[in-house]
Amino acid sequence: MTTQTARSSQETIGVFEKYVIPNYGRYPICLVRGEGSHVWDAEGKRYLDLFPGWGCNILGYSPPKVVAAIQEQAAKLIHVPNTWYTEAQGDFAEFLSTRGFGQAFFCNSGAESIEGAIKLARLHAGEGRHKIISFEHSFHGRTFAALTATGQPKYHEGVGPLLAGFRYAPLNDLAAVEDLIDDETAAILVEPVQGEGGVNICTDAFLSGLRDLANAHNSLLIFDEVQTGMGRTGTWFGYQQSNVQPDIMTLAKGLAAGVAAGAFMATAEVAKSLKPGTHASTFGGNPLAMAAGLATGRTIEEDNLLENCQEMSQRFRGHFETLKAELPIIGELRIQGMMIGLDLTIPATPAVGKCMERGLLVNATHDTVLRLLPPINVSAEEVDEGCAIIADVLREMAEEI
Ligand SMILES: *Cc1c(COP(=O)(O)O)cnc(C)c1O
Repeated sequence: MTTQTARSSQETIGVFEKYVIPNYGRYPICLVRGEGSHVWDAEGKRYLDLFPGWGCNILGYSPPKVVAAIQEQAAKLIHVPNTWYTEAQGDFAEFLSTRGFGQAFFCNSGAESIEGAIKLARLHAGEGRHKIISFEHSFHGRTFAALTATGQPKYHEGVGPLLAGFRYAPLNDLAAVEDLIDDETAAILVEPVQGEGGVNICTDAFLSGLRDLANAHNSLLIFDEVQTGMGRTGTWFGYQQSNVQPDIMTLAKGLAAGVAAGAFMATAEVAKSLKPGTHASTFGGNPLAMAAGLATGRTIEEDNLLENCQEMSQRFRGHFETLKAELPIIGELRIQGMMIGLDLTIPATPAVGKCMERGLLVNATHDTVLRLLPPINVSAEEVDEGCAIIADVLREMAEEI
């Protein structure tokens, strides 16, 4: 059946059991519609989603200006390959470069942007300089270079051999990087704020230390901004929270507000090493994704969403500082913009289910971290409502121990 019918979540789950490879742990809920920070399931239950789309839905669900741009572009031109020029790709590259730096290469996902960035770094470094330094608890994606760069053994199990030349250092430990780096190091790859790893924020001193080390060894500094990019931290890009500019940064997730799009930006000097024929993506930079990306960027600007992100970040901080003072099960609070982690002294997973029962969607990562990636256009009322539910749930969990 190709026509959409009103089905229960259970019926859709039945279809999945027959036809979809069961490689994901899924909640037994089928989502059918969303608007702003809210999403509805097949049974008509409404949820406040403070983790929409794993961070891809940076403007929440179906933001009207992005929807309009997609509709308009789809009617004109959905896809043309990179053997041609399109206005949409040029315009979006200009938009990103003028808010950040450099020149763009477009692809379709975070992992692909990492693959491309690593390839560019090795091409730029030249023969015999292939080593990459990344970090423990990092997450860079599931394809082989991105997977190898990901400093978490659990993701490496059973699929080796991985790529050669990767080393891992603890985050915010400059001395460890100094020990690993040498003149065969093509690049240092780091998330300015580790997302999946538990909202671990790099200190400014660490990032500027990495910049100095990279310079001293003629290596490149790559920031994985797949999660921190596109306004998530309260500035256009995460690197703008510090005074450290990378040579390459990778983007995806929120880049086109949920339409599949990825990119890396490289300084014009470094970008020269990506000569015609060295790298490509058939879908990359297609007009539909580019129109969605440009509309995302313009919405952020027109609606002053970087400021909203900063203000709502302070609002979350206020609520959670108060709660932390009350509940010793909150060990640490880590916030940058709309990346929020509550590191608990107990497992965080039960909180996700309890929040869901109360109509709130959140995430748990690294066992003990309750994690939020709210859309950057979240309202004060939604922040207050979400925090009240989390307070309720954590109080209940504190009583149970
Ligand atoms: C999600 C993520 C990736 C991988 O992105 P995919 O689109 O799933 O391939 C890479 N890096 C970071 C920092 C991420 O958060």
